[in-house]
Amino acid sequence: MKICQGPKCHTYDTKDRLRGPKENKVPQTRRRSSFHYLGGNACDMRCERDWFQKFGEQAVNHFGRLTQPIKLEERNAWYKSYDYRGWNDNEEDRYYTRNHITKEQRPLTKQQYNDSNYTLNER
Ligand SMILES: [Zn+2]
Repeated sequence: MKICQGPKCHTYDTKDRLRGPKENKVPQTRRRSSFHYLGGNACDMRCERDWFQKFGEQAVNHFGRLTQPIKLEERNAWYKSYDYRGWNDNEEDRYYTRNHITKEQRPLTKQQYNDSNYTLNER
């Protein structure tokens, strides 16, 4: 079971947060097998926002605050896309990567398209 990371989750008044023996139910942080907010770590938008209000600044500083704007240049301008043709067409030739700057287009396999680590961009 996952526990919602919202720092105020236990303070929100809902029936499903009341846990414990019948006569002594206490509001608690939500527990679920999965969550859909904060990358799977918060039970709802309110808890997601609470987490960010409390920890967002620290998180940005911890993982690296941008100090210069990122410029879109040829070396990092590749993005993935695919042709929205009829679904009966050949699956394999619909995926491609295209450069925003040069407009060059190269074919991708479905596997490359779905691989979030695959890119022609320099890192
Ligand atoms: Zn929560």
